[in-house]
Amino acid sequence: MQLIWFRNDLRVHDNTALTAALEQGPTLALFLLSPQQWQAHDEAPAKIDLRLRNLQALAGELQQLNVPLLIRTADSWAAAPAVLARLCHQYRITLVHANEEYGLDEAARDEAVARQVAEQGAGFRSHLDQLLLRPGSLLTRSGSYFKVFSQFRKACLQQLQLAPPSCLPAPAAQQATGIDADPVPASVTGFATPDQALRDLWPAGEQAARQRLQRFSDERLHGYAEQRDLPAEPGTSQLSPYLATGALSPRQCLHAALMSNQGELDSGNAGVTSWIDELLWREFYKHILVGYPRVSRHRAFRPHTEAVPWRHAPDELAAWQQGRTGFPLIDAAMRQLLATGWMHNRLRMVVAMFLSKNLLIDWREGERYFMQHLIDGDLAANNGGWQWSASTGTDAVPWFRLFNPVTQSRRFDPSGHFIKRWLPELGELDRHDIHEPSPLSRMLCDYPAPIVDLAESRARALAAFRDLPPAEADQE
Ligand SMILES: Cc1cc2nc3c(=O)[nH]c(=O)nc-3n(C[C@H](O)[C@H](O)[C@H](O)COP(=O)(O)OP(=O)(O)OC[C@H]3O[C@@H](n4cnc5c(N)ncnc54)[C@H](O)[C@@H]3O)c2cc1C
Repeated sequence: MQLIWFRNDLRVHDNTALTAALEQGPTLALFLLSPQQWQAHDEAPAKIDLRLRNLQALAGELQQLNVPLLIRTADSWAAAPAVLARLCHQYRITLVHANEEYGLDEAARDEAVARQVAEQGAGFRSHLDQLLLRPGSLLTRSGSYFKVFSQFRKACLQQLQLAPPSCLPAPAAQQATGIDADPVPASVTGFATPDQALRDLWPAGEQAARQRLQRFSDERLHGYAEQRDLPAEPGTSQLSPYLATGALSPRQCLHAALMSNQGELDSGNAGVTSWIDELLWREFYKHILVGYPRVSRHRAFRPHTEAVPWRHAPDELAAWQQGRTGFPLIDAAMRQLLATGWMHNRLRMVVAMFLSKNLLIDWREGERYFMQHLIDGDLAANNGGWQWSASTGTDAVPWFRLFNPVTQSRRFDPSGHFIKRWLPELGELDRHDIHEPSPLSRMLCDYPAPIVDLAESRARALAAFRDLPPAEADQE
């Protein structure tokens, strides 16, 4: 008997490990509930809820394939080897299949499981699935992982031109096994169920994910280059929660993009090529996670930036978290995060830079808060985005470049539609006042004064970075 161990790959279409297992013989499926581990990783209740709803949909898909889904608990991953070993013994499993996962804890878990199931006479085979290209398959001439996105992108595109990854169809059903599937729980300890309005924004399951991809590629993809920076517009795909939980694969995304661009990867429609670039950013940060494991341990990619004198300012941190900084674009973005579990990419950069530069608060505080609230929380992309914004990361924004939240607001939300959606108290302000309301408007709207002076805080951040020890120490 084969075992497919599902993790963040909750779909039957284009699932490498599932297809491989079924090709080898009769297959059982497993999912581990690990609420304590999920909490240790700061995963958001909205993300756990989507994971469980996706799992429910997956159970239905697997039923069609006659693959029973077993649900077991391994509260922390330290318990996973024993749980799998027991299962291998009970069902006489000869081979466990799983799709590769890339954090340090994930790698350690899989190694421990492989060792323990071997004692039961079972093999452990991992498959490439979460990425287009396997980490380690793309290296610089000197044999190290790329640190600069443009070079990484070039190497990726060359590789993808040579050997575009293909999408696997859903596998054929197997003979019934006679083993009963377990019920999927609606919730797990420690994670509150989000309100229905949030859940309705993110319908679960691979069919919903594929429909969203199809609609995006039919209606929005060609306009992506012009629309992607405007938070008031539905210009981006909002597929990140499905990619993060694996209801959708990056190959399916790449294929949809190629289909709408006459098969062209790096030319043709500008919307398509810039969307493919975003898929490659996703790829880049996961390769960084493997190549430079210190980022998995909450360390700065550039060690010399560990010396930045981050401020302990709990009141300012709370104002940022709760969307009451007195900067309308920042506050609207933070309220979007709290209400929907998602935030527009442009705004993630703006609020991250505001926290780490204008407030000079450690980027790790923001990284953690994002993970605790994002429905698409992903260690690699979140860490990459935070370290980019804080100028502590690979290929990060230069430390002397700071986004001004008021200028960004005028540029990317010129009519203030986005701000008004999330800050209804500012609904009466005109397009001139809304980005930086006058003291009188603030009083009338009961909206707070800015918690920080932009010019002074900018100077403070520049001084903090200018005074750092030289970066030579960062060499590998
Ligand atoms: C501070 C910060 C934190 C972030 N945290 C996360 C996170 O936890 N999870 C996450 O998936 N993304 C994160 N991102 C990246 C990006 O903001 C989101 O992927 C994007 O907003 C998701 O919306 P979308 O699906 O509409 O994206 P689209 O614009 O439609 O892009 C398609 C897909 O490409 C990937 N992608 C896009 N931009 C990036 C990027 N800059 N880095 C890596 N992958 C990208 C995502 O999987 C996304 O779904 C973060 C960015 C910043 C600046």
